[in-house]
Amino acid sequence: MNTIPVTFFWFRRDLRLDDNIALWNALKSDFPVIPLFIFDDEILEQLPKDDARVTFIYESLQKINLELIDFESSIIIRKGKTHQVWFDLIEEYNIEEVYFNKDYEPYALQRDSEISALLSSNKVKVSVFKDHVIYEESEITKADGLPYTIYTPYKNKWVEKFETLKQQPLDELKNNSSNFYKSNFSFLTLESIGFVRSSISVREHNLKGVATYEETRNFPSLDSTTYLSPHLRFGTVSIRKLAHWASHKNATFLNELVWREFFMQILFHFPNSVNHNFKSAYDGIQWRNNPEEFKLWCEGKTGYPMVDAGMRQLNETGYMHNRVRMVVASFLCKHLLISWQWGEAYFAEKLLDFELASNVGNWQWAAGTGCDSAPYFRVFNPEIQLKKFDAKGEYVRTWISEFDLGYGKPMVEHAMARDRALTAYKTGLQQK
Ligand code: FAD
Repeated sequence: MNTIPVTFFWFRRDLRLDDNIALWNALKSDFPVIPLFIFDDEILEQLPKDDARVTFIYESLQKINLELIDFESSIIIRKGKTHQVWFDLIEEYNIEEVYFNKDYEPYALQRDSEISALLSSNKVKVSVFKDHVIYEESEITKADGLPYTIYTPYKNKWVEKFETLKQQPLDELKNNSSNFYKSNFSFLTLESIGFVRSSISVREHNLKGVATYEETRNFPSLDSTTYLSPHLRFGTVSIRKLAHWASHKNATFLNELVWREFFMQILFHFPNSVNHNFKSAYDGIQWRNNPEEFKLWCEGKTGYPMVDAGMRQLNETGYMHNRVRMVVASFLCKHLLISWQWGEAYFAEKLLDFELASNVGNWQWAAGTGCDSAPYFRVFNPEIQLKKFDAKGEYVRTWISEFDLGYGKPMVEHAMARDRALTAYKTGLQQK
């Protein structure tokens, strides 16, 4: 056992050295700080070997490790069941303190409470911080202390509360870098974790489109949105810095960042909504859940260009524009009457920015079963969506090479599918 007393900083959804709240606090501790990342078997076991998110995490850790050379330090990478990894670390090191940032997903909350108990029972001090959001848990509630379930009043309160913060210059968190533990730990290869590099990569984010966000964000061919979502998901960008910047640039864009936090607090307060309708009134809907039709949707072969282009973009790049996500999700739930859970699971497998709260929240929004959903009788017409948001067919042509050769026949006729959906929803609602 290494007898030098040390502090551990545990990286999770905060893969950056800059403006990292728990890391900044850790570096103020009385003991040298060892950075740690754990590839968690519980999560990895469910993923394909060339998972693009794993590649992105791996590359982000490589970057961090390079930055740590300046401080004569390095990161410890471990793979295994988290509990066992911590158990081993306690045996190997004289750990005085552990710091990490909060994660609000049900699995993480359970894991973190078990790890905290293990550490505390070994006389290790555990310190946990808010870093992933501006406002967490019950920081934005109604006057009676209950959580908001409607976005607009939540957003109004969020923006009002942020007003004071945004007026103050953001305090620069200067890391006490001399307090990193001097080390040169060997860096695991991706293969030794059981993975191979993915051919799909995460794009750099781009803030150029924020200036014209209102006018351009709905048009997928303009490709003008920020591509921030995977960076926010894995914390390669600081939400504190981003929200502060956005609040002085564009209110509509800031509102989108608030949607992200709205869904996170919904998941925190209503963890059951992960796989149950937020509104149980919709539990009576008889979904058709036809596996062959689901396959056509997954493969982008529905015959509706906007739907098929979106699904092909997702399959090829791990990304899909938000307007198109709304169209494909509505199509699956309403036109095909396939339950939102199937679509949510497919997105979870494919999206580089997969984030449980936003994925479930948006899928339930599209299905009409969520907390603040589109009304169930709003059934997007995929042809009209195409005319409105991709009139020249530039977006669909990018993803459907055969588009100009007379594109295929729709797998289901819109008017019939719309009536069928309305009947299924109405009947389902009456049964509750
Ligand atoms: P921008 O338009 O540049 O937005 C900036 C940021 O605001 C995004 O990165 C994101 O953090 C936040 N944001 C924007 N729109 C939303 C929204 N509707 N809900 C929550 N946050 C939002 N987003 C995810 O991050 N992970 C998901 O798993 C996810 N699943 C979705 C599933 C469906 C069915 C739908 C309709 C939307 C989903 N979204 C999800 C929301 C949205 O589509 C993406 O955040 C956005 O397209 C990401 O691209 P961008 O960063 O360029 O967006």
